[in-house]
Amino acid sequence: MLETTTVGSFPKPETLKAARAQARRGQLDPAQLTQAERQATRDVIALQESLGLDVLVDGEMYRGDMATYFAEHLEGFTISPLVRSYGNRYYRKPIAVQPIRWRRPITVEWYRFAQEATLKPVKGMITGPYTMMDWSFNEVYPDRRAFAIALAHALHEEVQALAAAGARYIQIDEPAISTRPDEIELAIETMQIVTKGIQAKTITHICYGDFEQVYPRMLGLAVDQIDLELANSQYALLDLFRRVPFTKEIGLGVLDVHSHAVETVEQIKGYLTKALEVFKPTQITVDPDCGLKTRTAEEARAKLANMVTAVREFKGEHGWS
Ligand SMILES: [Zn+2]
Repeated sequence: MLETTTVGSFPKPETLKAARAQARRGQLDPAQLTQAERQATRDVIALQESLGLDVLVDGEMYRGDMATYFAEHLEGFTISPLVRSYGNRYYRKPIAVQPIRWRRPITVEWYRFAQEATLKPVKGMITGPYTMMDWSFNEVYPDRRAFAIALAHALHEEVQALAAAGARYIQIDEPAISTRPDEIELAIETMQIVTKGIQAKTITHICYGDFEQVYPRMLGLAVDQIDLELANSQYALLDLFRRVPFTKEIGLGVLDVHSHAVETVEQIKGYLTKALEVFKPTQITVDPDCGLKTRTAEEARAKLANMVTAVREFKGEHGWS
C-alpha cells in the first residue's frame, strides 16, 4: 500500500555526460564508457536506498533517447542523422529498414547489474511498441498497425527475458499514447501482445496529454498499473476518474518534473488526500510525474526526499504500515 518508486530516469552526473560526449567523438573506448555508466548506476541505486524508496530503478544511465536506444539494439533498424524536433532539441530518429526482430536481451544485463546492488526490487524498464512506432520512420511495413505489431512481438521477448531474469516489476513506457487518441485501440492491441503470459507486475507510464479522449478506454491496456502525471495539472485529472472509476492500480505522480520548485511535504500530503477521494489506498503507488532526468541532482534528491517523508507521515496518520 502506497509503495514509493520513480518513473525511470535520473539526472546523469556531469562526469558521465562528459564521458558520453568523449565516446561520441571517439576519444573514449566503449569499455571505459560502460565503466562510467556502471558507476553512475551504482550511485543512483545507493541514492534511492538512502532516500528509502520501495521499488528502485536503474536510472537509465546507459540511455540517450528512449526510442533510439531500443532501436539500436533491435534487428531491422538503422538510425537517422540528427533530426531537429520542436525547439532546439536534436535527436537521431530510428528508421525501420528490415523486418524488426529481437535478437538478444537489450536491458537485462543492466537490470541484473542494478538488482545485484540492492535487496529492494528493481523495475525492468522498456519503451513500448506504440511509442517506438510513433517515433520512428517506417520503410518496411505497409502501415502503422503492422509496424507496431511487429515491434510488440519483438518487445514481448524482452519482457519475457526480464521476467526470466527475476524482475518482479516491469514497466512498459508509452508516452505517445496520450498524443494520438485516435490510435488508442492500436496501443491496446499491441500492449496485449507485449504482456501476454508475463508473471511480473506490469506497469505502463503515459505522459500528460488529452486524457478526455482516451479515458476510460485506456483502462483496456493489458497492464496491472497505469502510471500518470497528475501533479503538473494539480490533480485536475481526478474529475475524469470520478465520472468513471479507475479500475487498475494507479502510479500516482506527485512531483512536477518540469518545475524547479521542490514540492513541500504538506503539498504532497494534500495530493494524497485528494487521491483518496477516487482511489483505494491499495490501488496507489506514489512516484514523480515522469522521469527526473531534466532536473538537477539536488532538485531530484530534494523532491524525492519530501515525497518519501510525505508518504511515511501520511501512512502513520492513517495507521497504515
Ligand atoms: Zn511522462
